[in-house]
Amino acid sequence: MDLQLRDKVAVVTGGSVGIGLAVARGLAAEGAHLALCARDEQRLRSVVEAIATDFGVRAIAVPADVARPDGVAALATAVAEEFGGADILVNNAGTGSEETILEAPDDRWQAYWELHVMAAVRLARALAPGMKARGGGVILHNASICATQPLGYEPIYNVTKAALVMFSKCLANELIGDGIRVNAVNPGLVMTPDWQKTAKLLTAGTDTTWEAYLQKVADDNAPIGRFAAPKEIADLFVFLCSPRASYTVGSTYYIDGGWLRTTT
Ligand code: NDP
Repeated sequence: MDLQLRDKVAVVTGGSVGIGLAVARGLAAEGAHLALCARDEQRLRSVVEAIATDFGVRAIAVPADVARPDGVAALATAVAEEFGGADILVNNAGTGSEETILEAPDDRWQAYWELHVMAAVRLARALAPGMKARGGGVILHNASICATQPLGYEPIYNVTKAALVMFSKCLANELIGDGIRVNAVNPGLVMTPDWQKTAKLLTAGTDTTWEAYLQKVADDNAPIGRFAAPKEIADLFVFLCSPRASYTVGSTYYIDGGWLRTTT
């Protein structure tokens, strides 16, 4: 299937590792040019160089913190200067949390609100007018199955990802008249370096291997009995970014190996 993404310009936040990197590589493989953003400049630059070499597309690295207004402004400015605007925005940057509601202070809630919600709000304001001028576009939000089915140890993550899904729906209604399709994706367990790091920490000095620990997480939660590879998630993102998904508007797509325990 030709996804008709050649020479489109895509912005991916958190594009230096994990799901964001897989989405970036998937878009580049279809011929899209990229602006990738993350905070760790060295890792970001090496990833961007590799993508440009591997796929022959234009790719820029924008080291910035999207949880901050000035980080979003820096990203939008770099995109305008290099490409004159964007056709695709993938709001992917995000991270898990661990707390109890009774112990977490206000500033912790605020930090996750800025990262998971306000980054998407500000990037929509910064990039959507340019998409409209280019004849339309696509905005995708990487939320989480936890937006619907909460994990007990991370209430702030659950709440802010649920807010992101509702933001995605509201934005879709506001922008479809301008030819901009907005959707959200709710992944389940995805094998990223962060999960591996956590598993290694939790199993250090025990008689369980980190691999066995992660297999138990998968067995306990996902009927498919394994984590997804980032590329399995990225393929859905790339399809949703493409004109082949032209009737997808304002929806949330689960990709979770059967983990969601309800129908929605
Ligand atoms: P990773 O931790 O592997 O990667 C996160 C990416 O986001 C990195 O590139 C990181 O780079 C960047 N990032 C984090 N904070 C910021 C920030 N403030 N500003 C700019 N960039 C930032 O995450 P995953 O690939 O696992 O997850 C990606 C998204 O998918 C997240 O939103 C997550 O909630 C969601 N998700 C993940 C699941 C999983 O099982 N892995 C399941 C469901 C949803 P740097 O640190 O250099 O800034």
